[in-house]
Amino acid sequence: MNVTFHTLASFATAAALSARLENRNLWRFPSASDTLILGGGFITGILIHGILDTTPHNYPIPSVIDILLSLILFPLFLLIAKRYLWLLIAVCFAGAIFPDLVDLATNMVNRRIGTSLPVVKIFPWHWRQYSGSIYDGSRRLESAIYHLVVAAISFSILYISRKRWLRGELLSKSTSDKSSDATHN
Ligand SMILES: [Zn+2]
Repeated sequence: MNVTFHTLASFATAAALSARLENRNLWRFPSASDTLILGGGFITGILIHGILDTTPHNYPIPSVIDILLSLILFPLFLLIAKRYLWLLIAVCFAGAIFPDLVDLATNMVNRRIGTSLPVVKIFPWHWRQYSGSIYDGSRRLESAIYHLVVAAISFSILYISRKRWLRGELLSKSTSDKSSDATHN
């Protein structure tokens, strides 16, 4: 799938795992159990990438815009998230894009600047027989439905767990906005 959807899923993964982090001090070395959560975030990122890639999909976002969008979304999400979660968000994001970096980055570089770097695909969901990629433009509705499902699940997890990951001042702002709306209604 487009990197943007992997990125979105990685934010939801970090939000879901955020409840399990013990150490709230960003600058202290993570405890053993926090290290396990961080490692779990990276592995989960890779596995969810596999699930998304085996799901039938085409590519609604052109590749350059897709990469730029992810590179914009990542710092934006850090900006609105609690600071002690930055490392968790970063490892979940790294896990979510890792398979594409390993398997597809050299191919993309070759195509863009004409190099002939070796292209080796080690993740099975990038192999033709397991990949859900649709390149001939068919099954658009099916692909659109799966993209909507990924977005809906990710946004639902982010919304449900917002008190855990959203920065306090933004959280209280959204709550006060709601209560002022209620007063006006
Ligand atoms: Zn992939």
